[in-house]
Amino acid sequence: MKFKKKNFKRSFDGRIFLDIKKSWQENELEILNKMRQISGIDISSDKITCYIDHSTSHGYYGSRTIFLGIKNGTKNRIKMDDALMVISHELFHIYYWRELKKMGLTKSVPGTESKEEWKLAETAAFLLTCEPSLKKIWPSAEVYLYPEIKGVYNKVKKFWKKGDLDYFLVNSYKKIKKER
Ligand SMILES: [Zn+2]
Repeated sequence: MKFKKKNFKRSFDGRIFLDIKKSWQENELEILNKMRQISGIDISSDKITCYIDHSTSHGYYGSRTIFLGIKNGTKNRIKMDDALMVISHELFHIYYWRELKKMGLTKSVPGTESKEEWKLAETAAFLLTCEPSLKKIWPSAEVYLYPEIKGVYNKVKKFWKKGDLDYFLVNSYKKIKKER
């Protein structure tokens, strides 16, 4: 994974950028191995660029890009555990949508997905980042599920346990399609 700065001003502490990069590089191999084991898909960070963005507190993603917002009140800091968790969450989203496309389960792409599809994508990323083998890499991270997602989460979490993302997607799409 490549790292780049976004919206850093001269007055900001540049060490945070190096700290995050170093922390990711130290843990990347283990994180990717665990993500592959949990999902059954070949997740890699090659050709992915992570922008450390000083203008937002949110994480988001594009087709080959991850944005990690590190704005946090007046402190402009983010905990390393949270940084690792958010980068992994966004990286997973990229592969999640590639897998959906490959499987032909939807014509949607990020940005055009239905509300239910959005909830499902967040549920999957949440389930991934809660897995004990990953959670132990970011023990203090606040893994958070939006309240409006709980309904979908409760319906599909049983499909996650198999450790097979394709199985999860096929069965979850059946569930959410019925209710659209
Ligand atoms: Zn997400």
